[in-house]
Amino acid sequence: MSQQPFLPFAKPTIDEATIAAVGDVLRSGWITSGPKVQAFEAQLSEYFGGRPVRTFNSGTCTMEIALRIAGIGAGDEVITTPISWVATANVIIETGATPVFADIDPVTRNIDLAQVEAAITPRTKAIIPVYLSGLPVDMDRLYALAKKHNLRVVEDAAQALGSTWNGKRIGALGDFVSFSFQANKNITSSEGGCLVLNNAEEARLAEKYRLQGVTRSGFDGLDVDVLGGKFNMTDVAAAIGLGQFAHIEAITAHRRELAQYYFTCFGSDFEAKHGAQLPVADFDNSNWHMFQLVLPERKDGKPARATFMEQMQERGIGIGYHYPAIHLLSMYRARGFKDGMFPVAEKVGRLIVSLPMFNVMTKNDVERAVSAVKSVLQQNK
Ligand SMILES: *Cc1c(COP(=O)(O)O)cnc(C)c1O
Repeated sequence: MSQQPFLPFAKPTIDEATIAAVGDVLRSGWITSGPKVQAFEAQLSEYFGGRPVRTFNSGTCTMEIALRIAGIGAGDEVITTPISWVATANVIIETGATPVFADIDPVTRNIDLAQVEAAITPRTKAIIPVYLSGLPVDMDRLYALAKKHNLRVVEDAAQALGSTWNGKRIGALGDFVSFSFQANKNITSSEGGCLVLNNAEEARLAEKYRLQGVTRSGFDGLDVDVLGGKFNMTDVAAAIGLGQFAHIEAITAHRRELAQYYFTCFGSDFEAKHGAQLPVADFDNSNWHMFQLVLPERKDGKPARATFMEQMQERGIGIGYHYPAIHLLSMYRARGFKDGMFPVAEKVGRLIVSLPMFNVMTKNDVERAVSAVKSVLQQNK
């Protein structure tokens, strides 16, 4: 058994300056949305090339609000990927619209844009692409497709803060772009999210949807003209987000280095030798939110992933799985989705694992993870 401490697959790190900043907020007498939220939104907006940005209390509600701003609801169809956190499809149902899935590309594990085009009907109103592990889809092709079919795009960039497309930041281009600051993302606000919008009118609507539809004016003017919810970010969360965001460039650079070192340690014969699939070796666009393998099936018929996770845990290494195919979850099966509809997603959803990858991981941690992966796969041959 390993003498070294357990290596988790993800772990947030909050520096002392951020902890002190949270203390300042708690002592300030103003702990809900206030100056810290405004400062965080201003910094994010600058980062995304001056586009309007509003923050919320989760990445989930961020996407739902984008759909509402786009006017999407009952009778509309929205196309997304089966390989994402279930939130991505749930928000479509929340608006009253119908989720439609398109299978994924087996190499990138992102939505296959040819399959998206094939799934478009006269009722299709929007596409929600997901950048799994922070690897973007072909953004030129995505927006050409959206333009051709007159569709809105809500980018689920929950994992893609710091990712780029041909040198431009994800979020600095495109239509609606949604990010999450949940605890395991590259930067966190404990919980939270932000939406990059197109103009001041959309930003005003985002403010209404996040706080009961309220518009205030003068000293005591208050009106409600749309149904909003309670989705505002607190200054406590924004102070954490600001403290983390200060390190975004260093975080992305370090994760790219770790990813590169993973490839070095696995070696060029790893896939052929073990039958497992490495991720796309992209060190320019991806922010390496995760480092994911697709495992080989087992010859003895045992569930490959559960066995792998257990054997890695015995070696002191934490393994995540992101994600099981959404369309095979009970609530989606009850809506008519079945096995066999999206074969690539079904296989990846059954066999994908996330290896340790977090901001303060070391090269020694990568070596430990890789040698454990090799020994487990060797043992199961
Ligand atoms: C984290 C995540 C979400 C949800 O974000 P929350 O902030 O947890 O609501 C949605 N989609 C993807 C791809 C994610 O990784």
